[in-house]
Amino acid sequence: MASYRSATVYCSSSDQIDEAFVEAAKRLGQLFAEKHVQLVNGGGSVGLMGVMARAVHEHGGRVVGVIPHALKNIEGVAYQASDELVLTETMRERKRIMYERSDGYVVLAGGYGTLEEFLEVLTLRKLNYHDRPIVVLNTNGFYDDLLGFFDKMTDAGFSREPASKYFEVVTEPESVLPTLGLGE
Ligand code: AMP
Repeated sequence: MASYRSATVYCSSSDQIDEAFVEAAKRLGQLFAEKHVQLVNGGGSVGLMGVMARAVHEHGGRVVGVIPHALKNIEGVAYQASDELVLTETMRERKRIMYERSDGYVVLAGGYGTLEEFLEVLTLRKLNYHDRPIVVLNTNGFYDDLLGFFDKMTDAGFSREPASKYFEVVTEPESVLPTLGLGE
């Protein structure tokens, strides 16, 4: 059996989004499968989480979903086809497991949940709790305003280092795994 590295992907639980984000998640799922990188995600069947998990499986890859009991019990929310579905008591425990079981982190387009997860791994990296790579897939410039705000924070002295010290930004799914240093 092929040996897998793992990458945690943070992304939207919403389906009411532009097709460009869906296409990017599908393509990335295919690449994870082809390059034998195991997907670790929030265990949802909804939004980009579900899109990417299904794409990984369509191409023969592996999915680990990490989901709190409370969310799993809401019908249709959990991605039941996960190769491993890790059930947690709380959202915090879920984030911790998604953080620990990973060789690198990917941020796709998303809402508050995605942003919270991104800022946590970014802050932990800044404080040297880990040195694993973080890649933001900035499809159609979705994160441009946030990246601009990070620059503003640095200019105003709230962060000593530019944000580029802690994570990389790419625009195409094909660049994600090479930038993470996974899947070669
Ligand atoms: P959001 O960006 O607000 O849509 O939240 C998505 C992120 O938060 C994902 O990366 C998940 O880890 C987590 N999350 C939020 N809602 C759900 C859900 N219904 N099912 C699974 N995970 C979720």
